[in-house]
Amino acid sequence: MIPYSKQSINEDDIAAVVSALKGDMLTGGKKVEEFEKALSNYLGVKYVCVLNSATSALHVAYSAIGLSEHDEIITTPITFAATSNAALMCGAKPIFCDIKSNGNINEEKIEALITPKTKAIVPVDFGGNPVAIEKMRAVCDKHKLTLIEDASHALGSEINGVKVGALPDIAIFSFHAIKPITTCGEGGAIATNDEKIIERAKLLRSHGIVKKQFWNSDMMALGYNYRLSDVACALGMSQLKRLDSFIAKRKMIAEFYDDIFTNNPYFFTIKIPKNVKSSYHLYPILLDRNFWCSKEEIFEALQKADIGVQVHYKPTYQFSYYKELFGELSLPNTEDFYRAELSIPCHQEMSLEDASFVAKTLLEVLKNIQGCKR
Ligand SMILES: *Cc1c(COP(=O)(O)O)cnc(C)c1O
Repeated sequence: MIPYSKQSINEDDIAAVVSALKGDMLTGGKKVEEFEKALSNYLGVKYVCVLNSATSALHVAYSAIGLSEHDEIITTPITFAATSNAALMCGAKPIFCDIKSNGNINEEKIEALITPKTKAIVPVDFGGNPVAIEKMRAVCDKHKLTLIEDASHALGSEINGVKVGALPDIAIFSFHAIKPITTCGEGGAIATNDEKIIERAKLLRSHGIVKKQFWNSDMMALGYNYRLSDVACALGMSQLKRLDSFIAKRKMIAEFYDDIFTNNPYFFTIKIPKNVKSSYHLYPILLDRNFWCSKEEIFEALQKADIGVQVHYKPTYQFSYYKELFGELSLPNTEDFYRAELSIPCHQEMSLEDASFVAKTLLEVLKNIQGCKR
C-alpha cells in the first residue's frame, strides 16, 4: 500500500532518539528548550512552546486568550475536528465560515459572521497552502480579535518568503506522525511573538504550577499535563533539519502530478500561487461533479490497487455531536468540496515511479467508472 502520507525516519533520527534515551532527563530537560529555540529560529517567531499534540496546543492557545462560554470563534469546517473541538473544551461556540475552491476559509465571508461574542478567527492552511493571512490580519485588527492560525499542515510553508506562523497572533503546529515533521508520533507547538501568551501557555502546559524555593511550588491556574518529552524533542530537532528536504521531495511529486493531470477530463487540482511555498502536506484532487456519486466506488478501486487515498475532510458541522449541539448547518462550497475531494499519496518516502503508478491507476480507474447520469 502506498499511503497518502508517511513519516520518514532515518539513521540520524534514530541516533538522536537513542542519545536522548541515554540522557539523564527523559522529560523536563534541556532538549525541550533547544527544540523550542530551533523552531523559533526556523519560523522567525520570538517564542515557541512545544506540547504533546496540536490538539493540546489549540486548547492551551484558546485558554491563554481567555476563551470561555460567552465567546465565539470563527473557523473553517474543512479541517480536523480538533480545531473547533478545542474551542468546545473552553465552552465557546465555533461559528463555521464557508470555504473557497482551494479548501481554505473564504476571508471575504468572515466579517459578516462577526458578533459582539466573537473572540478569535481560526483559519487552517489546507494541505499546506497558506491562507490569505494579511486580509484576516486586517479584519482582526479592525474588530480587535485574536488571529490564531491552525498551521498543522503548514510547517515550512511561506508567503513571499515569510514563514507561515510569523504573521498571526498565535500559530499552531502538529508533529503527529504524518504531519510535515514528527516527534515520536505525537506532538505540537504554539508559536507567538506575544510574551504574555507564551508564559500563560507554558504555565497551562504543566499543571499551572510554578517552582518557587526548595520544595515549595505554587499553583497559579488549573493546568494540564500537556508536556512534550525530551526524547520527542530530540527527534523533533533531527526532523526539523530534514524538513526542507522533505518539502523539496513532496514538491517534486506534486509537480509531477500537476504535469500529468493538466487538462484531464475527470478532476481539478489546486494551484499553488507563484509567491507561495507550500509544505505539500496533502495532494488533493477535486472530482468533477459527474463523479461525485461514484466517489465510494473510486475510493474502493484505488484502495484495491494498494493506493491509500483519504478524504480531507468531512465538514465538522456534519458530525452528530455538533448537530446535537448546534443543529443542522450546510455551507454550499463546503458541501461541494467534501463531495469532490480526494487526497492521493504525496510524501517524502515515495519515488517518482510510485507517483507514476498512482497517476496512471487513478486515470485508469476514472476512465472505467461511469459518471453520474444528470
Ligand atoms: C492534525 C491536525 C490537528 C490535530 O493535531 P494533533 O497533533 O494530532 O493533535 C489539528 N488541526 C489540523 C488542521 C490538523 O490537521
